[in-house]
Parts: sequence; structure tokens; C-alpha cells
Amino acid sequence: MTKILLVEDESKIARFLELELAYEGYEVIVAADGRTGLEKALSGEADLVVLDLMLPQLSGIEVCRRLRQTSDLPVIMLTAKDDVCDKVNGLDTGADDYMTKPFAIEELLARIRNILQRRLKQRNTPLTSEPLRLGGLAMDIDAHTVHFNRNEISLTKREFDLLEYLMRHQNIVVTRDKLLDQVWGYDYAGDTNVVDVYIRYLRSKIDDPFNVSLIHTVRGVGYVMRYE
Ligand code: CA
Repeated sequence: MTKILLVEDESKIARFLELELAYEGYEVIVAADGRTGLEKALSGEADLVVLDLMLPQLSGIEVCRRLRQTSDLPVIMLTAKDDVCDKVNGLDTGADDYMTKPFAIEELLARIRNILQRRLKQRNTPLTSEPLRLGGLAMDIDAHTVHFNRNEISLTKREFDLLEYLMRHQNIVVTRDKLLDQVWGYDYAGDTNVVDVYIRYLRSKIDDPFNVSLIHTVRGVGYVMRYE
């Protein structure tokens, strides 16, 4: 069950919001001052905080500032029209959203749903990407490893970068110049034969030991990685 921490000192408003949030299916934790609110926010049990700006002991801004030192818990800040809104909005309080009182409860509920959905999406987005594959060759960019079937292939940084570029452009013939630009950089001033040299290194580590032919020379043009 999603838990919402409500930090609001005006008991009437707190009670109203608590009932509305509970009706929507949220579990509500209420704190009536800034210090208690901060403690509960830091305890980690809430999924989101609805935080009033004007609070006894610690202001909403101060609660938010201290919370942000260690936590990215979503915060919706409640401000009153006479809280000098421009000043508040101009402050980098670290709140995810603001609502100006009086507001329609539906608007607050919509914003809560929005933030929680955004968080869920962020959490479910894998940080790792799929390995690049060709034949038995698998290149894991995140782990910086290359395998042929289950055998790990050890590559230098440059060999890895060259292989990555070729793997990302499978079945496309890439010129030496293009490889020089993309892998060695535009300001590379050395011998252009360096590409051929590194292609030989890759072949000696991939094609030769595993008796395959993945790296092909296209005479007079460049190279292509292809499984055939
Ligand atoms: Ca207040």
C-alpha cells in the first residue's frame, strides 16, 4: 500500500486531506510540525510527502532542504497565496511540485498519481542495455566484457572501442576514415594503417581462435562485421 506522509499543522485541513487520501486508497501518516515531519520522512516508510510550507518548529522549506541532503523522496509543497509565492517558487527547495492553497483536491490527487507513476517508471527502467551479438560473439558494453560462446576475450580499450563501433554497425561497410574518426578521434595524427593493425588484433582474438569469420575486409573500401 502506498504511504503518504502529510505534514500540516492546521488540523482541519490535515483531517480533510487525510480522509480524502485514505478514500483514494493511500495509507496516511500525519505530522503536525516540521520537526516530526522531517523525522518521519527520514524514517523511510513514506512513498511521498505532502508538505505544508508554514509549519511550527521547522518550515516546509527547511524540512525539504534537510530531507534532500540524504533522500530523493518525492515532495509536494503546499503554499498559501499569501506565503509570497513568487519568493517560494524562486527558491530551490528541492520540492517536486507545488500547490497553492486553496486547491481542488482532485488536482492534488492527480499530481500525486503523476509523481508516483514517474518514480515507478524510473525504477523499472533498467540501467543496463542488452549485449551486442553476432554469431557466437556477445559484447556487454556495461560490464565491458566480450565473450565468444562462454569464453571471455580480453581486449584493450582501443580494441574494445573499435569492436563496439563495428558491432553497432553490423552488415554496414565502414571505411578506414570513418573508423579513424569514430574510434581514434578527428584529431588523430598518426598512421592511418593503425586501423588495419587493430583489425588484425581483433581477428587474432576473435576470428582465428574460434575458427569463425566475422570481421571482413571489403577491398578498397573498409571493413564490415557480418555473420555468414
Ligand atoms: Ca501551515
